[in-house]
Amino acid sequence: MIKKITLFIFLSFIGLLHSQSNYPTDYFIKPLEIPLVLSGTFGELRSNHFHAGLDIKTQQVTGHKVVAAADGYVSRIKISHWGYGKALYITHPNGYTTVYGHLKKFSPKIEAYVKKQQYLKKSYEIHLYPKSNELKLNKGELIALSGNSGSSGGPHLHFEIRDVKANILNPMLFGIQIADHKKPTIQSAFAYTKNDTSQVNQSNKNIELILKRQKNGDLIANTVYAHGEIGIGINAYDRLDGANNHNGLYFMDLNVNGKKLFEITFDKFSFSESRFINSYIDYERYARLNQKVQKCFVDHPMNKLSLYDNLKNKGFIHIKDSLDYKVTITTKDFKGNTTKLIIPIKGKKDTILIGEKVNKTPYLFKANQENNIGDDMVKVHFPKNLFYKDFYFDFSNENGVVKLHNKTVSVHSYFKITFDVSKYNKEDLKYMFIAKKNKSKKWYYVSTKHKNNTLYTSSKNLGEYTLLSDLEKPVISPFFKKDQWLTKSNYLKVKIYDKKTGIKSYRGEIDGQWILMEYDPKKNILTYDFRDKKFTGTPHTLKVIVKDYVNNSTTFTRTFNKKFN
Ligand SMILES: [Zn+2]
Repeated sequence: MIKKITLFIFLSFIGLLHSQSNYPTDYFIKPLEIPLVLSGTFGELRSNHFHAGLDIKTQQVTGHKVVAAADGYVSRIKISHWGYGKALYITHPNGYTTVYGHLKKFSPKIEAYVKKQQYLKKSYEIHLYPKSNELKLNKGELIALSGNSGSSGGPHLHFEIRDVKANILNPMLFGIQIADHKKPTIQSAFAYTKNDTSQVNQSNKNIELILKRQKNGDLIANTVYAHGEIGIGINAYDRLDGANNHNGLYFMDLNVNGKKLFEITFDKFSFSESRFINSYIDYERYARLNQKVQKCFVDHPMNKLSLYDNLKNKGFIHIKDSLDYKVTITTKDFKGNTTKLIIPIKGKKDTILIGEKVNKTPYLFKANQENNIGDDMVKVHFPKNLFYKDFYFDFSNENGVVKLHNKTVSVHSYFKITFDVSKYNKEDLKYMFIAKKNKSKKWYYVSTKHKNNTLYTSSKNLGEYTLLSDLEKPVISPFFKKDQWLTKSNYLKVKIYDKKTGIKSYRGEIDGQWILMEYDPKKNILTYDFRDKKFTGTPHTLKVIVKDYVNNSTTFTRTFNKKFN
């Protein structure tokens, strides 16, 4: 009897683990009143992270009504120049939190609450945690207008659902309905060798497979001859109804002769594991060609991604001589639309004609140890477990341009670069900063700190670094003439710009009183809403002070006329 009960409990537990109904599907309503068309899906592959929510298109414009997905209260408000821009977090009685990002403006009651805090703290950027009784909301209540604020490349709403432990969940699991009648597309596939003795088509290097597309969208690869431990990776995307955006897959698995070796499902992850995307994709290929090949195997021991499931031999296929294998990769979107790739493999131990060429340098970096490199001018410290594998590090310093390997190796977390600046005098040092060369070969400012005789920074990116100076002050140009009448205008705008290091801080005043100026760094514009405050009499004086990252400061004053009533 006891045995039976135990078995029953055990089976119910297993059943619970596998049921999709863990999530309430009728609790949340859609956050916009327009039909939902996506430009981004949950978990899709972004630069250094998996996308944490849905990107809902807003018909190329801002200003659509955003509503609370369920009853709850505003538990967090964050306004930042980059990232989610103006973002709102609503905590619901069932423990979940919904997040709304890139907003244009909050609803009047929330906007009033936020502005009060902004004027108190004299800052546009703000981070607030209202109490549960301060900003209560009903399901469907207007909370904001959709926008394009922060690091957003076009008008849309970023929508997330998080659980009590701050894991991020696929909103589609909660019944948020998005029409999707299109199958995933597999663009290309690659075979990878695990070690020196593995081979694919007589190569020890990765090879691209030749694929034939069938009428139904499925693909068949030309027969691969292989031996030893190999893995497969694919470049694939999914499109949904109403848009041509290349979005992420929901599911992918790999079977060999009907036996599953690998599975990944984009349903839930935490922010702390998001950077493992650089271990999930073929990072080297991504850095060189901007192509995101998803590997159906786990080749780095430190990869802690929880999205994987049913791993056998970490997804690697063990190919024995003169045996035949049928590898099937199945990709699915959330609606279950499916595209398959079949790869016939013949086991053949052959001579390896193409070997992996290793560029040996004097510096062999071990992933599980700390690594240090440098010379008289610069010292670089990499804590342990920063790299996914051991490799030969390339270091040089030519006339102050410090080469830290190259961008094809990903770094999991921060390393420290320290420049010795004892040879510079104090006056020159004031204007100096650390710069990194970007993709378009231009130097840009990286957050530089000064301590004793050093300038230092923390970075997650390999590449070229150097010391530069910024002697140019920020430029401030207004959109109104001296003494212009602005009675009919609702907004006051000025353009601010700094060529070399960028804008670190700004401050606006009218008649000596601090005013809230919203900074849009994508447009280089500061905007003041005249309805915030009333000033008596006329004329008035606008004063704007802007500093760049090395503290070059520009102060601009101009008078204008306006009657506030
Ligand atoms: Zn987004």
